[in-house]
Amino acid sequence: MNTKQILQKVQKLVPPTLLYQVQEIHASIIYWWILGRGSKPLAFSQKSAMVFSPHQDDETFGCGGMIALKREHGIRVVVVFLTDGQGSNATDPQIVEIRKKEALEALKILGVEPAEIHFLEKPDGTLKDLPATQRQQTIEQLAELIKFYKPEEVYVPHRKDCHKDHEATYELVKEAISDDKTRSVYAQAGIEVEVLQYHIWLLWRAPLFIMLKLKDIATAYRLSIESVQDKKNRAIRSYYSQIGGLPRGFVKRFLGPDEIFFKVEEYHSLPATKLPVLNLGVLGVLAVFLR
Ligand SMILES: [Zn+2]
Repeated sequence: MNTKQILQKVQKLVPPTLLYQVQEIHASIIYWWILGRGSKPLAFSQKSAMVFSPHQDDETFGCGGMIALKREHGIRVVVVFLTDGQGSNATDPQIVEIRKKEALEALKILGVEPAEIHFLEKPDGTLKDLPATQRQQTIEQLAELIKFYKPEEVYVPHRKDCHKDHEATYELVKEAISDDKTRSVYAQAGIEVEVLQYHIWLLWRAPLFIMLKLKDIATAYRLSIESVQDKKNRAIRSYYSQIGGLPRGFVKRFLGPDEIFFKVEEYHSLPATKLPVLNLGVLGVLAVFLR
């Protein structure tokens, strides 16, 4: 049993209310640290983008500000939803259509036209365990979209995002981008693609020092989205079927004036932050008392 599986078992033993409180405090500390000290500013770029979103809402929570900023400058942003979103309410036969409508509404607020939105409708919750043939077909489907649009920036959920569809999306897109044919299309177009990871559950569910390491935080960048904050918050509210079921304090983390991204290409080469572990712990404890 690996660390992640042990943690999942331990979490199941903790009453949900207590678990959410602990996760909220944990997330506040990490946000406070990353936004205050542990990240570099990310300059707004004029590059076209493609956002891969496992479910209908991840793109808005994770990248809504970036999407709105680019669209206000007339820069193309394509959004690809991988699953049908059925998992959020397995007993409601309408939920897939409801979530699709909510996604179109949220993205309309952020400035994305329906023609730039793709729904691949894979069964929710299955991306990590797709049979080999379906997995390969999905990678090819993603690669076709990437080759067609040739985005200069690709946004994926963080590779450790603590949700199996989210982590699988990272892996599937990575394979689609690394495919020889995709690389050759980019080389011919003279484009170097940049991959950025957004976070949904990472800072909420991944315990610091156990799953979320300091070297992960060292690749954090913050993008100021203050000028489009209102649009993002309205887009989040479009997901009315989802926001009521999310833990207390979770949605609040995405309403601020910054978005946090983690760059992929520097992932393994960046040195761990020089700040001693002890200092981060002390600052974290202070953050709890200052809340
Ligand atoms: Zn999701």
